[in-house]
Amino acid sequence: MTVSSVELESRPAGVPDGSAAADLLRTDLVPLRTLVEQARPTDVERALRARRRSLADFAVLLSDAAGDRLEDLAQSAHATTVRRFGRTVRFFAPLYLSNECVSTCTYCGFSAGNDIARRTLTPHEVVAEARELRSRGFRHLLLVSGEHARIVSKDYLVECVRLLAPEIPSISVEVQVWDADTYRRLVNAGCEGLVVYQETYDRSTYAAVHVKGKKRNYDWRLAALDRGAEAGMRRLGLGALLGLHPDWRFDALAVAAHAQALMRRWWRCEVSLALPRLRPAAGGYEPTAPVDDRTFVQLLCALRLFLPDLGISLSTREAPELRDALLRLGVTQMSAGSHTEPGGYADATDAEPQFEVSDTRPPDAVAAAVQSAGYDAVWIDTIGPRRSTL
Ligand code: SF4
Repeated sequence: MTVSSVELESRPAGVPDGSAAADLLRTDLVPLRTLVEQARPTDVERALRARRRSLADFAVLLSDAAGDRLEDLAQSAHATTVRRFGRTVRFFAPLYLSNECVSTCTYCGFSAGNDIARRTLTPHEVVAEARELRSRGFRHLLLVSGEHARIVSKDYLVECVRLLAPEIPSISVEVQVWDADTYRRLVNAGCEGLVVYQETYDRSTYAAVHVKGKKRNYDWRLAALDRGAEAGMRRLGLGALLGLHPDWRFDALAVAAHAQALMRRWWRCEVSLALPRLRPAAGGYEPTAPVDDRTFVQLLCALRLFLPDLGISLSTREAPELRDALLRLGVTQMSAGSHTEPGGYADATDAEPQFEVSDTRPPDAVAAAVQSAGYDAVWIDTIGPRRSTL
């Protein structure tokens, strides 16, 4: 088994002291990974009964021994979620701005080498898309784009946010990582959330799948959420792409440790985590290490038990039946009716999507399923007055 620690001899450039990223780099994950292998039924029983759980308890809950107690994990995760969040799920929609990208990532449909139909929305087309999403009920939008610093520039992003802010109460971005000054400009334009997935925390896998482009800089990406929080972002989203690294448990430990570090350092921010499972993408990519449904359920339950206050987000990559079931186990945010190509909402477009959507139900059908499960679909959930505007 090859598991490389994220602990380093010295702090790398791009990871400042006092950041959650630096806290993560000081965490030796190798002993925890060993604990997963060695956990016995009595360890699982103790972790299940614990009132507050450590990262070591989380490791135990990822074990095969804990897999044998999946029903107990599920019941406990359900009770914890209802106690902390009630029976609610917050809805959001991704709004793809552009599928232009100069980076080469082996698993992504937007990768620079892929011969696909490219499109970048004008700021006014972005507003048209947002209005369409608003008419479908959404008040929380996640602006997504590939990495192209000239076409999807800082000024372009700030302009999009500025135009949307009067109409959309909650705007987050999932775009290439920037410096704190750029995040500050986005915050001042009306952006409140930053989403940055590390994709995999294993450095060698990270280097192998991020072949070309700025995304190759592991440490600069790792500290992006710290820069965003420092700039005033109030919602922080992190995640790992399950199936990228052959050892899903290593990435689960790392992303959970990162979430805990962010929640401690940036305790005024709302932190949420997503664990998208890789799906086929343009360029012929097929996931090499798929994570099955039972394993995925165990992981989500373990996360909920480890970090009761953590938001857990679930995308339309997952099938409808599984999404409906996971609602009871810890999911607090869901996208619905998603298009992963730029311009997919207001009009038909031939632009290439980033990945195949699995839950293709329209948002009102997803909301109806949520309600019939006894949960409230929350379309708007603001976290206080917006900061200064331009
Ligand atoms: S993952 Fe991001 S940076 Fe990599 S190819 Fe896709 S859009 Fe570009």
